[in-house]
Amino acid sequence: MKKIKANILLIYTGGTIGMVKDFKTGALKSFDFKTLLDQIPELKLLDCDIDTVSFKEPIDSSNMDIDAWVQIAQLIEDQYEAFDGFVVLHGSDTMSYSASALSFMLENLGKPVVFTGSQLPIGDLRTDAKENLITSIQVASLQTKGKPLITEVCLYFEYKLYRANRTTKLNAEDFQAFSSFNYHDLAESGVHLKVNCEYLYKQSKRKKLKVHKKLDNNIALIKVYPGITEAVVTNIFNTPGLKAVIIETFGAGNCTTEPWFLKILTKNISSGIHIINITQCVGGSVMMGHYETSSALKNIGVISGKDITTEAALGKAMFLLGQDVSDNQFKTMYETPLRGEMS
Ligand code: ASP
Repeated sequence: MKKIKANILLIYTGGTIGMVKDFKTGALKSFDFKTLLDQIPELKLLDCDIDTVSFKEPIDSSNMDIDAWVQIAQLIEDQYEAFDGFVVLHGSDTMSYSASALSFMLENLGKPVVFTGSQLPIGDLRTDAKENLITSIQVASLQTKGKPLITEVCLYFEYKLYRANRTTKLNAEDFQAFSSFNYHDLAESGVHLKVNCEYLYKQSKRKKLKVHKKLDNNIALIKVYPGITEAVVTNIFNTPGLKAVIIETFGAGNCTTEPWFLKILTKNISSGIHIINITQCVGGSVMMGHYETSSALKNIGVISGKDITTEAALGKAMFLLGQDVSDNQFKTMYETPLRGEMS
């Protein structure tokens, strides 16, 4: 039987990966993605067909927002039937946030969506962009019995493929910029591309792709620290229109037991604000009730974010708020893994 080549769509949103150096001036400038195949002839050697589409105005990922996430989701939805896999080129700074949000927006995903970027521009001599791009395309082309092997949103960077909603950018300089502390790597690229199939996300039943484009960002993130004041916390909770607050607590979900703190939380939960407890540690999980300092949080109805990353916690809150679910459903759904984002 003749092997059918995979059809891959590259979606360029911006970021360092798409830049080249103007050798006369030394300045970095955006690269015309329509000429990608001419500029990187190695791509022609890949056993797949590649098409490209670019944001009209590519952005530094520090400017990513809900509208840009919807734009990416829309491009994937529009081209879903025409392609076997998608590679999203994105600045590394907020890549984990965007890729996590997209994992919630793309329900019942049956094809790979691989986010990648680079620390050095594609036009730099020592660039990490070429390997990241080439292997991401290879990963997105992987098939088993004529169907895509990977059916989730992932992130490829510096020889490793991760579940996107488990990643965090940890290093601003190293080529190895990302990590996934609470979940296994999905694949490693060495002499061979080794896919850890047992850790890939599996849908229980193949259902039709559902793209959620309604997100609600009336949320806040509080990172607690020893000495945090009542005024700071009160002010955040007084934000008009606020619907959910994510609190990054210490260790396994512990927080100050100062009466003023618990009073603010109790009052806000009773007025319908969702409060989510996640840990500021990069690895490990919230276990409310494990220490006395978290028992009170559990008793007043704080939601456990378990071992979710901050990036995924934010995306999940925006996604669930956009779903118009009841308070009880919000808590139950938040504490349940929806896309493999928590253990
Ligand atoms: N500031 C850039 C961005 O996130 C950095 C990068 O591309 O890695 O868009």
